[in-house]
Amino acid sequence: MTDTAQIKEARFMVKHEVFDDFDKKSEKELVELLAAWHQKKARIICLCQEGVGIAPILHVKYKKESRTYFIANNASNRKKDILHSFSCRYNSGDEGYKGMLRKKGIIIDDEDVISCTLKEAAPQKKKKDELPSIEERRVISLSTRTNTGSQGTKGQASLRILFSTLLQEMNINRFNPGELRNIGGRLYKAGTRTKINGKWIKDSLFLARTHAKVDGVLKKTASVRKYDFRKHQLVIGWGSNRNSEYVPYYKEGSKNIMTIPLLSLDDKSFVCNLTVFESIFKNATTTRVDTDFGYWVLWRDFDGKTGKLVDKELIFVPAEEQSMIPVESSYEEQMIAHLLLTDRKFEKPLVGNLTQYFLDARPDMMLLDTTPYTVVEVAGMRNEDYHYRLDEKEKHYVEQGYRYVEWDGEASLLSHTALNQISKGVIW
Ligand SMILES: [Zn+2]
Repeated sequence: MTDTAQIKEARFMVKHEVFDDFDKKSEKELVELLAAWHQKKARIICLCQEGVGIAPILHVKYKKESRTYFIANNASNRKKDILHSFSCRYNSGDEGYKGMLRKKGIIIDDEDVISCTLKEAAPQKKKKDELPSIEERRVISLSTRTNTGSQGTKGQASLRILFSTLLQEMNINRFNPGELRNIGGRLYKAGTRTKINGKWIKDSLFLARTHAKVDGVLKKTASVRKYDFRKHQLVIGWGSNRNSEYVPYYKEGSKNIMTIPLLSLDDKSFVCNLTVFESIFKNATTTRVDTDFGYWVLWRDFDGKTGKLVDKELIFVPAEEQSMIPVESSYEEQMIAHLLLTDRKFEKPLVGNLTQYFLDARPDMMLLDTTPYTVVEVAGMRNEDYHYRLDEKEKHYVEQGYRYVEWDGEASLLSHTALNQISKGVIW
């Protein structure tokens, strides 16, 4: 699993030949390629920083116990201070996105195992009438991105970062026109590489699904797997928080239990209801952006006294409906909808940013179908400070060799010439 999963988004050069598009190869072909490189002791050049500085060198390692091939950094990279790009998965130092995640308590090791500790949420002290207003919530939702420990509960922040990491590790934050999204299948795979509180989560993960892959095609399954409150600890489904028939509602005859309709991650059809205490539900809504749809993610753990599984934390992760890519504002949602409409290939970082710069700001998007790649800044809010920041951003990215475009959230996206221009093969 580890070897071939990790090379899918890579770009390498071996003996002057460029290797990319690994996602078009089958698992078998990928393993064969790695075996051949291992035998030849191939010098693999990572092209993550193409054109910037000295390229890092990698090699294939073989692990006897698990009989897997995987790609590792040559020791010379570290000795000579040769760096991968921020988001390159072979960047294992503090300067990359894995280093940033480590500081937030999430570890992705060399074999791609994701592990973290989810702490129990602090007890709810606030009474009903002290809950933040919608406006306050909006402010909180903007500030929690960088300062995750101070607002809400510690555990809640970790769950949000963990979920974003799972999506990003499975490249759900990238969009390639025509590709099978298969969000359910990708999250299932993520589940096979994840440990929470020292335990593999594969068997305690419940994904709201209706489809399974049969001979490479996603097909509706005859029976839907059911949520089991005695067994499942991590529950993930698609759902709605407003403007749809699937918004959560009070359970009939009860004033403190909420029913949350969970929709399929495969086709968005209704799968099952999730019931949680109102207190857990209210806590979840404190970090929401006003989109109609998104992901419901519930974390459950064993109660110290009774030994039974109980609900600990619930989060709602707003997302653009068609791509199911999480967004942090309705402007981002509009931008993604526009990129889908115009058949663009793009990426939106969910943890970190495109580079190690501007990590404290909202992540930028990147168009992957232009040469060079185009950084897209969705500005939305306008003020002088922010303006200054944007100039700084533009300067930085242009210096790094990217194209840069900005959208203020007001002008028509369809008539945004710089954004809509695709210049394949043209060097700017
Ligand atoms: Zn790299």
